[in-house]
Amino acid sequence: MIDVKKIKKDFPIFEYHPDLVYLDSAATSLKPRIVIEKEIEYYHEYSVNIHRGIYSLAERATQEYENVRTMVSYFIGARDPSEIIFTRGATESINLIAYSLGRQIVSRGDEVVTTIMEHHSNFVPWQMLAFEAGADFKVIDIDENGELKIKSEKAKVSLEGIVTKKTKILAITYVSNVLSIINPVKEIVTEAKKINSHIIVIVDAAKAAPFIRINVSDLGADFVAFSAHKMLGPTGVGVLWGKKSLLTSMFPFNYGGGMIEEVTLTKTTFRDTPYKFEAGTPHISGVIAFGAALQYLKTIGLDEIKTHEEELAHYTLEELKEVFGSNISVYGKTVERTGMVSFNLKNIHAHDAAQMLDEFHIAVRAGHHCAMPLHKRLGIPASLRASFYIYNDEKDADALVQALKKVKERLQP
Ligand code: PMP
Repeated sequence: MIDVKKIKKDFPIFEYHPDLVYLDSAATSLKPRIVIEKEIEYYHEYSVNIHRGIYSLAERATQEYENVRTMVSYFIGARDPSEIIFTRGATESINLIAYSLGRQIVSRGDEVVTTIMEHHSNFVPWQMLAFEAGADFKVIDIDENGELKIKSEKAKVSLEGIVTKKTKILAITYVSNVLSIINPVKEIVTEAKKINSHIIVIVDAAKAAPFIRINVSDLGADFVAFSAHKMLGPTGVGVLWGKKSLLTSMFPFNYGGGMIEEVTLTKTTFRDTPYKFEAGTPHISGVIAFGAALQYLKTIGLDEIKTHEEELAHYTLEELKEVFGSNISVYGKTVERTGMVSFNLKNIHAHDAAQMLDEFHIAVRAGHHCAMPLHKRLGIPASLRASFYIYNDEKDADALVQALKKVKERLQP
């Protein structure tokens, strides 16, 4: 059981805003004190560059940074820390693959496959790649429950007619950031590789890593991308995990300092992975503080976090349905619901509702949540999204429902 009262004390933002009901963790999580302090520690005690100096402060900074690479590799079950590349976020991780590998392997007549429920970060890079290469861009649809249309009479996961021998890339989200659905990623990867053993599968785990125990070695995908800031870490830090053989064969994404082996007037050679993908000075303090976030998450336990989030989302959903009945539309009706609820109140624009909720110190997201194709598919311009994390409890859900009652009174014609 998660002790929310105790946890909240670890988050300084609640000292500044004691009334805050923060229901926007799917956009970014709040940061605990130990993460903030770890970042400050770097700037106070050893704020020097990494991988360059041979003096002791530089060695300490390098050690702290590289320790986090090892921590991340353990956290996601990677075989080797050199499979962990630090980026600016999930977005950059995915773009890195699209540029460094996608542009090498996708050509005219090939296929690039993604899904309608993707965040723009895992949709637009593949759409652009397909358009540039003259490849076919295929998008997996959803059914009336918001689940991917990948079932057949014979199998729970069937990619027949979706993945073919011509498919070079399959990019799929682990968890939808709108529908609150966990996709059967392992089964999808297995099925895709059965049809086409050369396919490259990329998993967007930005919304999964904060609460699902990911084991990349078991998942079978080729790449997994996520962001530190959604899992208590600083903004501007992301992770790309990739299979070592692929990373070794890929070209760098950016060129510059820290990633070269030798530069001459006629040629340049590059260091091995991960360094060849980390050109320039990285977000040193952010990576180091991300280590503190991982430690904090480990102490609480991802399984406990998952249960906590799911229970809160179920509770909220039941309350919303009971109070608003046919006046509410909820998106994604699957039973396995993660810690978020996306919905609209009848005849009330999501932005108007969110603005009014702010009067009650309730922070929710309103809009298309960077998932415009999905919102178009659902036939709505925008939705409200309440997303939960370790510092939320039923009181927050109750506050949301009570405030929405007032919104309805004031705004529903
Ligand atoms: N994928 C999903 C499912 C997300 O929710 C997000 C963040 N909104 C991203 C990708 C992109 O993450 P970032 O903005 O940290 O790069």
